[in-house]
Amino acid sequence: MPEHDIIIIGGGHNGLVAACYLAKAGLKTLVLERREIAGGASITEEIHPGFHCSTLAHAVGPISPQVVADLNLSQFGLEVITPEVRVLALSPDNRSLCLYNETARAAGEIENFSSKDAKSYTEFATSFARIGRVLSPLASMTPPSLDKPGAAEIWNLGKVGLAFRGLGKKDEYRLLRWGPMAVADLAAEWFETELLRATVAARGIFGAFAGPWSAGTSLGLLWQAALDGNPIGPSSFVKGGLGAFTQALASAALSAGAQIRAGAEVLRIETAEDKATKVMLKGGEEISARAIVSNADPRTTFLRLIDPVNLDPTFLSKARNYRTTGTAAKINVALSGLPSFSGVNGGDAAAKLSGRIHIGPDIDYLERAFDASKYGDYSPEPYLDITIPSLSDSTLAPAGKHVMSVYVQFAPYKLKEGDWNSRREEFADSVVNQLARYAPDIKRLILGRQIVTPLDLEQIYGLSGGHIHHGEQTLDQFFTFRPLIGWAQYRTPIKALYLCGAGTHPGGGITGMPGANAAREIIRDFRARKV
Ligand SMILES: Cc1cc2nc3c(=O)[nH]c(=O)nc-3n(C[C@H](O)[C@H](O)[C@H](O)COP(=O)(O)OP(=O)(O)OC[C@H]3O[C@@H](n4cnc5c(N)ncnc54)[C@H](O)[C@@H]3O)c2cc1C
Repeated sequence: MPEHDIIIIGGGHNGLVAACYLAKAGLKTLVLERREIAGGASITEEIHPGFHCSTLAHAVGPISPQVVADLNLSQFGLEVITPEVRVLALSPDNRSLCLYNETARAAGEIENFSSKDAKSYTEFATSFARIGRVLSPLASMTPPSLDKPGAAEIWNLGKVGLAFRGLGKKDEYRLLRWGPMAVADLAAEWFETELLRATVAARGIFGAFAGPWSAGTSLGLLWQAALDGNPIGPSSFVKGGLGAFTQALASAALSAGAQIRAGAEVLRIETAEDKATKVMLKGGEEISARAIVSNADPRTTFLRLIDPVNLDPTFLSKARNYRTTGTAAKINVALSGLPSFSGVNGGDAAAKLSGRIHIGPDIDYLERAFDASKYGDYSPEPYLDITIPSLSDSTLAPAGKHVMSVYVQFAPYKLKEGDWNSRREEFADSVVNQLARYAPDIKRLILGRQIVTPLDLEQIYGLSGGHIHHGEQTLDQFFTFRPLIGWAQYRTPIKALYLCGAGTHPGGGITGMPGANAAREIIRDFRARKV
């Protein structure tokens, strides 16, 4: 008899979400996490004595409200902080554009740049919210089978189709037309202010090996609508950093009866008669289960954990073509005080800085930053997505001091010259120099810094190719194609082996949805005695 019903490889937030649902369904569930702490890319670490920061992801995706409610996460300590500001976009000419959650307030700020854009923004945001309502059911849906769609799948898609018809001609047309467009074109159709165009476009390329002129980058923006109903990326934080989210999930999983083992790296998924039966850990221990669920990314799962002889050559070649070239890095900084950003003055400066801070003032800047990546170098003028979470969460830094989390794009996984280990300090200096153009006093405030290169993302945090989303989220790796065509339903060619991470639909971001969707399919298979 197998020792467990379920083994989950990886204690990232999706693995933990799946563990909660599976354990609540009465299945004996064991989570095996290779690192000493669970949480994956949703963790908080001490970056300097007394300073804690979300090491990798810094703002939540947003987390699915359904997951939060189903798993009672508030009861397990989850406290989401949502500042009024979504993003403050900085410009080298000392002007800044503050986009609030509230559309009318954001439009008021845009009015300082262009009355035309202020009007367009209101229509853009309204259209986005409407389109988002149509697309959002897709996120919590298992993508339909292309070969043999079931009745329920056809029914669910039919409901989305009906909602689509309800959009009206204008928004229907927009939705169909926007998906394949370059996000730079989309932003230019709506707005004349470069800073606003670039701030909107940045969301379409977040985490992608793509610039704003790359075809299909509007998809990222549309997906944002599905998850959040707002064209501007969310800035919701978790009290205690994102590690507090995965701690709440871990507590919920334990209370539902799951077990979590940290420091337990799976080296091999063993099979018998085409069925996954057990895992082998580093150190040689073997643990059996009726089903194995991988929260590791698809490349790791299919190309490292499974013996290739167990996979069909056509499937293997598709898995090898799954794209995971990352281009992001992180610099987390402990600060002795709040930096002064040029053009962000007055009594409301701290409030304006409490959401995300965007550096990437125009479309050409973003595209040039991507150019560097394309040719194997990090950009000296990268796109930066910055948060100062200690402004709204005093638990992260000593009084009067701050932590700053700097997401850096574009920094390619593969460097043409040298390697990440020898160039990490030089890279971090270059990012700080760029920051200093917008916050001139920052250098004297820095007490300590943590540098996370794309190679660290792979080697320390287990992300193949350093890709923050477990793989590109382009049309060919999306929805029924995620991770691979024919395998978007969380099942794999090996019986009793499932995927539940960001490499499955609906993809990356701290949402919990891949984990929840996968758990639903696994429970269905258990109930139908297919496992
Ligand atoms: C630098 C960075 C910034 C980001 N910023 C944001 C953001 O601001 N907002 C947002 O919503 N999203 C952001 N993301 C994306 C988001 O963090 C990911 O999409 C999300 O964490 C994926 O969750 P997951 O549970 O699927 O996988 P992961 O978080 O990657 O977890 C997978 C887990 O599996 C473990 N594992 C892998 N292999 C094995 C093995 N062989 N044995 C045992 N365990 C194994 C890993 O150690 C890891 O803990 C960011 C990501 C990065 C890297």
